[in-house]
Amino acid sequence: MINIAGHYIFDGKSFLKNAYVSVDEKGTITHISAPGNALYEKSKMLFYSGIIIPGMVNAHCHLELSGYKKSDEKHKGLSYFINSIITKREETLNNNRCEYYDKLMFDNGINCVGDISNTEISIPTKAKSRIKYHSFIELSGLDPKNIQEKLSFAKKLKNKYSEYNLKCSIVPHSFYSVSAELFKSISEIKKNSPISIHFLESQEEIDLFFHKKGNLYDLLNKIFPEFNQFIDSSEKLNQYLSLFNHSNVILVHNTFLKNNIIANNLNLYFCVCPKSNLFLHNQIPNKNFVLENTDNIIIGTDSMASNDNLDVFDELKTFANIYQIYNLEKLLPMITSKAAKVLNFTNFGEIKIGNAPGIVLLENVDLQNLKLLNESSVKRII
Ligand SMILES: [Zn+2]
Repeated sequence: MINIAGHYIFDGKSFLKNAYVSVDEKGTITHISAPGNALYEKSKMLFYSGIIIPGMVNAHCHLELSGYKKSDEKHKGLSYFINSIITKREETLNNNRCEYYDKLMFDNGINCVGDISNTEISIPTKAKSRIKYHSFIELSGLDPKNIQEKLSFAKKLKNKYSEYNLKCSIVPHSFYSVSAELFKSISEIKKNSPISIHFLESQEEIDLFFHKKGNLYDLLNKIFPEFNQFIDSSEKLNQYLSLFNHSNVILVHNTFLKNNIIANNLNLYFCVCPKSNLFLHNQIPNKNFVLENTDNIIIGTDSMASNDNLDVFDELKTFANIYQIYNLEKLLPMITSKAAKVLNFTNFGEIKIGNAPGIVLLENVDLQNLKLLNESSVKRII
């Protein structure tokens, strides 16, 4: 057993000044001291300069796209990106680097990941990883005739995950890539939580939903000539979202989301992937929207197809700089307790007796005001 002390412990929700936490050989927390106890001489006491925080949560990733080399997609928009993912998928999956990026995420201080899965290639990595994954088995399908085929594919993949004791749920890719019928069928699957949906990542989605035109509209019509867009108003959108009222719903990206689009009676969380959004669209979610919804925001890295690392702390720093939010009490739950709760990772995201959340040191912060700085960094301790 060791005792880890720091200027502060952030337990996932609040700060304990000059406190220490005792951790056993398995990484389980056995004791949390009262504030003011960090400097007592005690055997097996390690004092760190900075803030001790729980292992972090990356709420949106595509581990299976790890072999993808981002190259010419910069600022070209969503339809270009989708086309390029489709054409390069085979090559990408054959050169998967799941293990490498799984280890990199762990080294970056991440203990839990919400990960999109379209195939089984990431299962062997996840089965032996030190990271806990919740995999979102993602379905797309515009042809209502193929629904049964799609669902049985997803259920087979789900069984495969279960064989390895890995958590997963079946989710729709987005509102534009699934038919209304498939969307409804997914919402009827029992014990299928949480739900993650790619949402309003580009202006092209707005053009498609509300004006029935644009590059994405043209691409989808080309892929499936009978394409029939079922969302054409805010009301419709909210109606379809409410089909998932029984589970946590994470809307991913939200780059073009404004306050008046979503009804406020829905239980939704908004995952922001700032570096991916800047790379693909040179756009970030609306400032007013973010400031008014900070309590429901969590952070993701997206994939190596649109990022140069899978580092959720780096994303948080980018987020902080964009929205000028530096208050650590507001920021840290987005990558710890709140994200763990939304993704149903019980025992993670909080420094609490009985949990084994992983322990990370947050260094080079403004300790006087508990604010994030440009030079702030993280280092895994346990
Ligand atoms: Zn994604």
